[in-house]
Amino acid sequence: MKKRLNILGLNYTVEFKNLALGKQECGNCSPDTLEIEIDANLPPDKHNVSLFHEIIHAALYETGNRKEYTNERLIDNLALALYQTLRDSGALNMQWEMLKESSRV
Ligand SMILES: [Zn+2]
Repeated sequence: MKKRLNILGLNYTVEFKNLALGKQECGNCSPDTLEIEIDANLPPDKHNVSLFHEIIHAALYETGNRKEYTNERLIDNLALALYQTLRDSGALNMQWEMLKESSRV
């Protein structure tokens, strides 16, 4: 399943698929090709945090923050904080829920 996400005016393709990644990895972000991949086998919360994680990677890259772009700990913390805040405040809308649901294989 592929989706499009506009990240800072750039049309990223987000693909949810079975990925053979390391234990700590749940997705990939490739700013050169404007592609994000998320492991389709993750539980819902982990899936959503991973999508935020990859979006933050893209945003840092596109805004010229190349040092922070490689800081996995910073990105993990930001992704978790952003996702938890939006989830717990009810700010995640139907479109987001559809994106989450559509990724299930
Ligand atoms: Zn990462």
